[in-house]
Amino acid sequence: MSNVSDISRLIEFVRDEYRTTDFIPLHAPKFEGNEQTYVADAIKSTFVSSVGSYVDKFEKNFAEYTGSPAAIAAVNGTAALHIALKLVGVEHNDLVITQPLTFVATCNAIAYCGAEPIFVDVCCETLGMSAAALENWLFENAELNNSNKCVEKISGRVVRACVPMHTFGHPVDIDGLLKVCKNWNISLVEDAAESLGSTYKGRHTGTFGVVGVFSFNGNKIITTGGGGMILSNMTLGARAKHLTTTAKIPHSFEYYHDEIGFNYRLPNLNAAMGCAQLEQINQFICTKRQLAMKYAEFFATSDLRFVTEPQDCRSNYWLNSVVCQDRVQRDEMLSTTNEQGVMTRPVWTLMNRLPMFKNCLRSDLPNAEFLEDRLVNLPSSVTSTVK
Ligand SMILES: *Cc1c(COP(=O)(O)O)cnc(C)c1O
Repeated sequence: MSNVSDISRLIEFVRDEYRTTDFIPLHAPKFEGNEQTYVADAIKSTFVSSVGSYVDKFEKNFAEYTGSPAAIAAVNGTAALHIALKLVGVEHNDLVITQPLTFVATCNAIAYCGAEPIFVDVCCETLGMSAAALENWLFENAELNNSNKCVEKISGRVVRACVPMHTFGHPVDIDGLLKVCKNWNISLVEDAAESLGSTYKGRHTGTFGVVGVFSFNGNKIITTGGGGMILSNMTLGARAKHLTTTAKIPHSFEYYHDEIGFNYRLPNLNAAMGCAQLEQINQFICTKRQLAMKYAEFFATSDLRFVTEPQDCRSNYWLNSVVCQDRVQRDEMLSTTNEQGVMTRPVWTLMNRLPMFKNCLRSDLPNAEFLEDRLVNLPSSVTSTVK
C-alpha cells in the first residue's frame, strides 16, 4: 500500500462493505432492536432519572453477560473509572501505573483522585500494556516498604493501582500483568471501556482485575447515549452503588449521607436504551468479526499489518486498525481517505505528550511511539444486520 491506487482500492473496498457512496463514519451506533419501545416505556413510567426498573435490569443483564458477580451502572465510562479507582483505595498523592497509548479519560480519572499516572510501554501485538515493561519499571524504580506497600523509591509515594486498557477491543496480556501486580501488591483495574464482548482464555475482559470498567458512549460497541459500568465482587459492588448514589443511607424518608458521594448513577432513560442494545451484542460482534476478517484478507497482500486478536483471545474488533510502514504512509492514508468521505483516524496522541501529564514518571516508550507514528483506525461500524 505505497501508492494512490492502493488507497483507492481500500476506499472502494470500504464503500462496498457499507454499500454506500455517502460519508462513512468511523463508528456509528445501530438502533435496530427494542430501543424505541423501551425508551418510550421508560418515559411512560415517569421514572426517567436515577431510579427505575431499567437500571436494575441493565445491571443484572450486564453482570450475567460478562459473568461478573456485580455490575453497577454509571453516567459514563470516565465516572465509572473514577469510582473504580476509589474502590481500590487510590488516594490523593498516590501513583497509578497506566499506558501512554490510551484515551485521555483513563488519565483524567486518575487525576480526579488527586493521584498521578506513571506511563509504561505497550506491547506491539496487543497494543496494550506490556507485562515486561511494567515489571522492568517496578524493578528499577519501586520497592516494597515495611507494611508491604509498593512505593516509588525516590518520592516514597505509594503505587496503588495499575490500569491497563484493552485497546480497540483487543485484550491485554492479562495473566502476565496479574502476576506482576500480585508480586508488587498493586491492585489491577481494567479499563475495558472498548472491549465489551472480548474474552481472554474464554473469560470476559473486565472480570480479571479487582475492578473492571466499561463505556457506553455513542461510539462504543453498544451505547446508552452516555453511560458506563463497574464490574467487581459483591462487596465492592455495594460500595460502588453507595458512592455513585450520593452515599445516601437507605431509609424510607430520612436524608442521611455518611461521606462525600457522587451523582454518578445512570438515568433510567439511558438504561432503557442499554437493555435494548445489550440484546443485540452477539449480533453486533458477529458482523464486526466478519468485517475484520475481510479487512485482514484485504491487507494480507499489502505492506501494512492489520491488527488481529492476540493469542487465546476473542476480540470484539471494536475499531479495526492497521500499522503503516511509517508516518509518511500514515499521513497519506489519512488525508486521502478523509478527503474522499471515508473516515479514518490516527491513534491518540500519547498521554505523556499532553501538557497536564508531560512531567509524569515513565519508562522508555519505544513501542507506543512506534504505534503513534503508524496506527490508523478504519471504518468499523456494525454493518447492517438486515442485508
Ligand atoms: C470511551 C473510553 C472511556 C470512557 O469514556 P466515556 O466517554 O466517559 O464513557 C475510557 N477509556 C477508554 C480507553 C475509552 O475508550
